Amino acid sequence: MTATIAATVAAQKAQVAARRLRFGLAERRQALADLRRAIIAHEADLQAAVAQDMGKHPAEFTLLEIVPTLAEITHARRALPGWMRARRQAGGLAGLGTVARLRPETKGAALIIAPWNYPVSLALGPLVSALAAGCSAVLKPSELTPATSAVLARLVASAFPPDLVTVIEGGKEVAEELLAQPFDHIFFTGSPEVGRIVMAAAARSLASVTLELGGKSPAIVGPGADLTRAARWIAFGKFSNAGQTCIAPDHVFVADSVAEAFGTELRRAIAGMYPKGLGSPDLAQIVSPRHAARLTGHLAEAQAQGARLVLGGASEARRIEPTLIEALAPDCALDREEIFGPILPIIRYGALDAVIGRINARPKPLALYVFDTDRSRIDRIIAETSSGSVGVNLTLLQFSHAGLPFGGVNSSGIGAAHGHWGFRAFSHEKAVLENRFSPLSLLFPPYGRRARRMIGLVRRFLT
Ligand code: NAD
Repeated sequence: MTATIAATVAAQKAQVAARRLRFGLAERRQALADLRRAIIAHEADLQAAVAQDMGKHPAEFTLLEIVPTLAEITHARRALPGWMRARRQAGGLAGLGTVARLRPETKGAALIIAPWNYPVSLALGPLVSALAAGCSAVLKPSELTPATSAVLARLVASAFPPDLVTVIEGGKEVAEELLAQPFDHIFFTGSPEVGRIVMAAAARSLASVTLELGGKSPAIVGPGADLTRAARWIAFGKFSNAGQTCIAPDHVFVADSVAEAFGTELRRAIAGMYPKGLGSPDLAQIVSPRHAARLTGHLAEAQAQGARLVLGGASEARRIEPTLIEALAPDCALDREEIFGPILPIIRYGALDAVIGRINARPKPLALYVFDTDRSRIDRIIAETSSGSVGVNLTLLQFSHAGLPFGGVNSSGIGAAHGHWGFRAFSHEKAVLENRFSPLSLLFPPYGRRARRMIGLVRRFLT
């Protein structure tokens, strides 16, 4: 395998210089059109593969995987001329007599490592940005969704020569071999633990990285929240894809004064969306028996430590019912770790200070959700916490807003994806400064009286 991987990466790298000359606007737009055509040609196969791997409902697959990926392509094709254009930069007095431009250039050869939870959009979305930026890409899907990974390999091979884009399938060992190659940029989506390994590997070749990671994303339901709306958005955000969404609300803080009423609304919302509980066809499966066992084990541990089951709790093979739980013991696994499944702890609070303090005492979340109608409380939460994104009176939708970057901060991620931010992740913004009549030459040595006087003036006017 090592020889094949090395040869593939070498073939892509060998084209970097040629591609710099020949992979201009028209070619990049064509590549994006080819990708779109290949996705549509393989859409039925992808849908069947994702159903086989994760039991995703076809409608959910279309809404949360196909729509964002095709929308990303459409947006990139339209915006590409603007993104690629060199931009004139003003420089003030220090730039006198020069012309400054910021010129995006392709980074070269990219590695994209994808997770299993949205195995299509989180593999092909970064590929859109890589192609828009003129990069070649090796794409490694997750080994936990093997059927989808196989279709992705066929799809990519149908649209691109391997020295432009290729899929290399496999697990941890293959990922490690890939990380040993001299890529120019590594775009990784996955857990913070593996993110650390990827960043350490990138340090060896000083490849730049985009790390799209995860963690525990809290939701806060304040005393002024529209409870019906909050319950429906939280149920949608948490139980879509059976909770296996990086920006799903991990747990909910709810103000004491509305906790009972919110609980009623949340149970009603869940019953409306998944009326047959475990048997609901709209409920996705857990990706693997090991992850299902992890979740049911954590649930049992929490209950053994005194937590109260409010709703659900049943499981069968890889299906787990939407489950609500209260009164978690501090430091049990559901409290400590990213849940990444359809189990939602509800935590009542009296003072907002305590909630903000608790959020700030933990790693910075990928997303934070606020449900309230009180502007000052909403603004206070946004101002006093740090997270990759904030959703106000909604969940998940910030992922697909074309005008917003998507990414985390520190342990929830480094760098950003989507649209212009995705293009910039795979581009280097080269600073180009041209001399027309720069007066700096008057200040060159020898530092006689005239030069010293002028340097004094420069100091006075520029600093
Ligand atoms: P993971 O980190 O286990 O795996 C992600 C990828 O890394 C897979 O392709 C896997 O093969 C590879 N990998 C595993 N071990 C490796 C190693 N030692 N070296 C190099 N590569 C290795 O993550 P996952 O379980 O697939 O996904 C779940 C996690 O991803 C959650 O934490 C979730 O929050 C996060 N996530 C984040 C985003 C985002 O956009 N920020 C999106 C989806 C998922």
